[in-house]
Amino acid sequence: METVEDIVIAGAGLAGLATALGLHRKGVRSLVLESSTTLRASGFAFTTWTNAFRALDALGVGDKIREHHLLYERLVAFSASTGEPAAKLSLKMQEKSGPHEIRCVKRNFLLETLENELPEGTIRYSSKIVALEEDGNVKVLHLADGSIIRAKVLIGCDGVNSVVAKWLGLPKPILSGRSATRGLAEYPAGHGFGPEILQFIGQGFRSGVLPCSDTSVYWNYTWYPSPSDGDAEESVAKMRSHVLAKLRAAKIPDEALDVIERSEMSDVVSSPLRFRSPLSLVRGSIARRGVCVAGDALHPMTPELGQGGCAALEDGVVLARCLGDAFVAGGEDGMMISKEGIDAALGKYAEARRWRVIQLITAAYVVGFIQQSNNGVIKFLREKFLSGVLAKVMVAMADYDCGKL
Ligand SMILES: Cc1cc2nc3c(=O)[nH]c(=O)nc-3n(C[C@H](O)[C@H](O)[C@H](O)COP(=O)(O)OP(=O)(O)OC[C@H]3O[C@@H](n4cnc5c(N)ncnc54)[C@H](O)[C@@H]3O)c2cc1C
Repeated sequence: METVEDIVIAGAGLAGLATALGLHRKGVRSLVLESSTTLRASGFAFTTWTNAFRALDALGVGDKIREHHLLYERLVAFSASTGEPAAKLSLKMQEKSGPHEIRCVKRNFLLETLENELPEGTIRYSSKIVALEEDGNVKVLHLADGSIIRAKVLIGCDGVNSVVAKWLGLPKPILSGRSATRGLAEYPAGHGFGPEILQFIGQGFRSGVLPCSDTSVYWNYTWYPSPSDGDAEESVAKMRSHVLAKLRAAKIPDEALDVIERSEMSDVVSSPLRFRSPLSLVRGSIARRGVCVAGDALHPMTPELGQGGCAALEDGVVLARCLGDAFVAGGEDGMMISKEGIDAALGKYAEARRWRVIQLITAAYVVGFIQQSNNGVIKFLREKFLSGVLAKVMVAMADYDCGKL
């Protein structure tokens, strides 16, 4: 079976759904192809920062997310060696562009909220793109079920192993040597944590405890795996024991340990963390001949800033604005849009995103390196003043406005 579409988006993660919704708000139709049978919400929750709320507002769904998720007032970073706060940062203060807004948002809720705003039939599930070729100005997409789609524009929002990024010639993401695991605990009678992000840093790991609502708490744990971890990655039970043993050996309060003990964990026990070399993006092809990438397909990064998903939302808004304007200018349904018009719109998107994502990838890697390092000098500086600097960097990276649609 062969069909023809104007705009095809590969992947119904945050980047794909945000782009499709942004285009829909501009009155431009797109088709999202998702390889899974349903939305993939693995990972439980996202730290969703000020920049992401600006993007969600531009997409018209910010208030729906706010309604169900707690607003943080503080970020407290504890030293895992001493158990003492190494940095406390008020999130209420006013920065140049307004107050901070940081919440921990459940992944399934965020994805479903975006999906529910899309017209029926926008997402086609069980539709994996397996090959991509060009026929003149048209991209020919071969799907796993044997069907073929011919598209004027292909947007790769297909995650860290993106086939579209490969087609664009972007190099493979690099293994950072770090891994992460995470979980979500439910407290039907209330958890008792305040409106704050708690971080425990040092002893070769970095762990966060973040209440999502009055009854649920998300946690994460990032570390450098070593042979001494034994078979920890074999099962959820072994990974939980491993994390608890590491945290008990450090000075972590009992309430934080309780979150991990009672939490649900993913079947994907741990994820090796990868990032795209920032250097490869200085001149790399983010967009070319009617094809571009967004989200993790463009900028996989280590998770220490909690910005991968937030940046995917920014991508979606900027891309929908650039491409949507070009299609709207191309008359009804973009009938009159030229190849040059499409390339100019995607080129504008690529240049708007290039330096922003280079900065995010670099800052995430450096923050993680300092937070998880066991080097004596770095440890000393971290306990003395670097923890405070890192907390400020995290908040500063989120103070960004991708603009309106
Ligand atoms: C441990 C950890 C913690 C994190 N914490 C945070 C955080 O606190 N805050 C934050 O903002 N970000 C965080 N992130 C990053 C965030 O999870 C990602 O950046 C975000 O999910 C990327 O969204 P995406 O839509 O680009 O990609 P994905 O969510 O990976 O979606 C890609 C989609 O494409 C589909 N797909 C793949 N290949 C194909 C194909 N060939 N054809 C069709 N469909 C395809 C997949 O099935 C998937 O649904 C974290 C990441 C990790 C690993």
